[in-house]
Amino acid sequence: MSGQGWQPKTGYACGCRRGVQRDNCPDCEGTGQRIDFAAIRAGKLDARGLFEAVKAAGIAYDNHESDLYIEATPEARALLRRYEHRDNARPFVHAVTGAIWLDVPFAFVPWWDARAAQ
Ligand SMILES: [Zn+2]
Repeated sequence: MSGQGWQPKTGYACGCRRGVQRDNCPDCEGTGQRIDFAAIRAGKLDARGLFEAVKAAGIAYDNHESDLYIEATPEARALLRRYEHRDNARPFVHAVTGAIWLDVPFAFVPWWDARAAQ
């Protein structure tokens, strides 16, 4: 599971057949959903890519259910500019620290992973 989600998906099912053909399919790389290679070339991030990049960069984050909250550091803002649904993000003042944070709806990937595993 981990690793595959790094690629942004187009949301369209791939035409390959399950099994050996899918395992070797260059269009979906075994995921069954066509990968958005144009987005990859443009450096775009899907929710999982954004969340993994936030963790890798050591940016403070929190969540409320599926909403991801990240501290609005310059690095976080740079990552958010590459996020495919960046227009949904809203700044807010963190109640404890008083710093500006960003509310990124539906981008807390572990919440979706836990839901999918049920
Ligand atoms: Zn395929």
